[in-house]
Amino acid sequence: MILSTKSYQSLLDEPISFECPYCNKASGMELISAPIHQRVTRFELQYVILGYMCSSCREQTPLLFKFGENVHVYKDSGDLPIRTSYYDIMTPQQLKFEHDKYLPEIIKTDLDEALSCYSVGAFNGFAAMCRRTIQSCLTELGAKGKDRIKSQMSDLKEIYNIDNDTVSILEQVIIDSHDGAHPHLPKLDNTRAELLLELIKDILYQLFVRKAKLKEASKSRLVAIEKKKKDS
Ligand SMILES: [Zn+2]
Repeated sequence: MILSTKSYQSLLDEPISFECPYCNKASGMELISAPIHQRVTRFELQYVILGYMCSSCREQTPLLFKFGENVHVYKDSGDLPIRTSYYDIMTPQQLKFEHDKYLPEIIKTDLDEALSCYSVGAFNGFAAMCRRTIQSCLTELGAKGKDRIKSQMSDLKEIYNIDNDTVSILEQVIIDSHDGAHPHLPKLDNTRAELLLELIKDILYQLFVRKAKLKEASKSRLVAIEKKKKDS
């Protein structure tokens, strides 16, 4: 598609549809906000954000698009080619821990804040909030929690085939800080933040969700047995 000096027609004509993060329906997306051509050329931007509205629920989702190669070449010609592939810019609503009803309130609050940081690309804030989430877990679970976290860490290393540098950084974020070995947070890039996200979700699942779900299952089993006794 084309960002032209004259009209937004080419952007409006490009059909965009995906599963809406708000209503979860496969929906057509209407273009609502588009970049200003003059500004894009002036600052020689390589990326732009276009705003789309879900035609089912009217919630809005921003998408990141890349311009074609060497966009500055087109500076004088007017028309700027935009690649039609796009990147989803995650919104806080999209990033939700689906089992959060099983988490103690304090941990849920810490995790929500961590996810909000992640969804706006604030990866170091995300790391700091993950550290705090783990601290809250240890307060809830006591010393045994730490061993379980370490064991989750080595599982993740195996599953994702993570290099030792990354393992060391993730350990500094979530394990070492509690005994004062690495009081400062290491910096996280996009890829490592993504792994940290998987790790924290996995840890919380194993520490809180799994047990609560098993308890739920066993409770409903007991209720079923009681009912059977009564009926017979
Ligand atoms: Zn929707």
